[in-house]
Amino acid sequence: MISARGIKKQFGDLQVLKGIDLDINSGEVVSIVGPSGAGKTTLLQILGTLDKPNAGDVIINNTSIRDLSEKELAQFRNENIGFVFQFHQLLPEFNAIENITLPALIAGKNKAKSEEKARYLLSFLQLNNRETHKPAELSGGEKQRVAIARALINNPAVVFADEPTGSLDSQNQEELHKLFFQLRDEFKQTFVIVTHDLHLAHLSDREIKMKDGFVL
Ligand code: ATP
Repeated sequence: MISARGIKKQFGDLQVLKGIDLDINSGEVVSIVGPSGAGKTTLLQILGTLDKPNAGDVIINNTSIRDLSEKELAQFRNENIGFVFQFHQLLPEFNAIENITLPALIAGKNKAKSEEKARYLLSFLQLNNRETHKPAELSGGEKQRVAIARALINNPAVVFADEPTGSLDSQNQEELHKLFFQLRDEFKQTFVIVTHDLHLAHLSDREIKMKDGFVL
């Protein structure tokens, strides 16, 4: 489903990724773990098409990222990939439904249908009474669940999450862990999660261990 071949990345003189090959299967919940500075976020950004490697290629659902123009890439990303970051990055002026439907509206989807899907996601995430709340009116765990709903609105094949539980207390961390597996079972998404949270990593289907720019 996702293949990385010979991925190298450097920032100035710093070689951060030194030749990464990996395959992630459809429906897998995979964790990327390793010490600070190992290159986890850099790899996630490249797998998620947010950054380009200096060498190598990423293939997602048989599409070689290298072959896409910037415009095609933006469309591919919006239709196929969802993102969840450590800090929710919701728009403060927008309520939960508006934040969640934004990627769908950008993709040109019907507003009423997108709102219907957003409501379904909110109810799946046990947030059905939070539809019109703005981010400031939501708890940390609720904000992160709204961010997950936003990542899922276009029914992406894969969701990339960078430290999704990093800003949460332990109870919310545990709830979010369970949620990734429930979501995978319900929506058949693939989840690729960078985490320092070893509990989450151990629960995942597979841990990808990184060190010094290599996958071990
Ligand atoms: P952490 O667990 O601390 O988040 P990480 O394994 O995710 O670490 P990366 O964020 O991928 O590591 O960073 C790997 C190295 O690349 C670090 O030394 C970092 O300073 C460097 N780096 C990352 N992004 C850039 C950038 N845009 N410009 C320059 N250096 C960068």
